[in-house]
Amino acid sequence: MSEIQLIEHLRSAGASRDDVVVGIGDDAAVVEIPAGYRLVACVDALLAGTHFPETISAYHIGWRSLAVNLSDFAAMGAEPRWATLVLSLPQADDDWAVDFARGFDALARLHDVALIGGDTVRGPVSISVQLMGVAASDKILLRSGASAGDDVWVSGFPGDAAAGLAVLEGRLNLAATAADYLSERFLLPTPRIALGQGLVGVASAAIDISDGLYVDSGRVAAASRVGLVIEMERLPVSRALSESCEPSEVMELAATGGDDYELLFTARPGHRKAIESLAGRLNMSCTRIGYAIEEQTVTYVLESERWMPSHTGFDHFAHRSGR
Ligand code: ADP
Ligand code: MG
Repeated sequence: MSEIQLIEHLRSAGASRDDVVVGIGDDAAVVEIPAGYRLVACVDALLAGTHFPETISAYHIGWRSLAVNLSDFAAMGAEPRWATLVLSLPQADDDWAVDFARGFDALARLHDVALIGGDTVRGPVSISVQLMGVAASDKILLRSGASAGDDVWVSGFPGDAAAGLAVLEGRLNLAATAADYLSERFLLPTPRIALGQGLVGVASAAIDISDGLYVDSGRVAAASRVGLVIEMERLPVSRALSESCEPSEVMELAATGGDDYELLFTARPGHRKAIESLAGRLNMSCTRIGYAIEEQTVTYVLESERWMPSHTGFDHFAHRSGR
């Protein structure tokens, strides 16, 4: 398969959008940005063996390569629109390219993202997606807006994806139902775009928890110059996870497991009802797990004692490095 054939597979991937003036096929892409909006952009590189096991399917790699970027948009409350893609592959592989394009396409269409260009090179498997989109001029969520007295919230069930990765890598043996649910949380993460957009004007700060609650809550605290108290008893844990591991391991995974692509956010207590009804409308869970304080320390509390993880974030199980 030549580069030209590969690009042909990708040409039909993603949504088609009226605001794409020039897409794949010319020297650069051109898009229309509506008046009153700002361009929002992010990029993430995924390396085989570092960011995902080499054994997962090209479909899942395609989905994840866009999902990690969509999650950053969710955390900004921004609207994704266009993506570019840099693919590095060791050899021409038609089946791989078709499967990759299908995975990328499935998620891109869900969020109306058009693939407008990219580059293709020969090398070790790596995928970089740049995502671009818009936000109304004064409507962006930052990490830096939290203040003392705010509630701390988290969406979904942190820890599931890390447990799913352990299943996929053969480090955790579970019954099929739990194994399937948890590995799907790693393979097909669901970026919280609608939640992020709904939180604009409600949340004071937000971040997506790609490196685990413990590490990413520290980033919000540092950016906002506040401290946080997180109550471990409040951490939402899925049934699949709680039935799969010892309670102490469940705590560890929920607090430090990476790859969940859920949102951690802060908001004034007066917004509790609004957040609960937003979560209800989106048919998802948002859980209040703590609060912000003036003193700039982040404390995780379990049974009134300070709790410390034995690992932090992505190095859980100490199996990967270089992220
Ligand atoms: P150039 O030499 O100008 O970089 P290429 O031959 O690399 O052109 O690419 C031709 C067209 O195909 C361009 O529009 C480019 O954006 C697009 N393209 C190349 N690789 C990819 C890819 N991996 N994903 C999406 N579009 C791609
Ligand atoms: Mg090129």
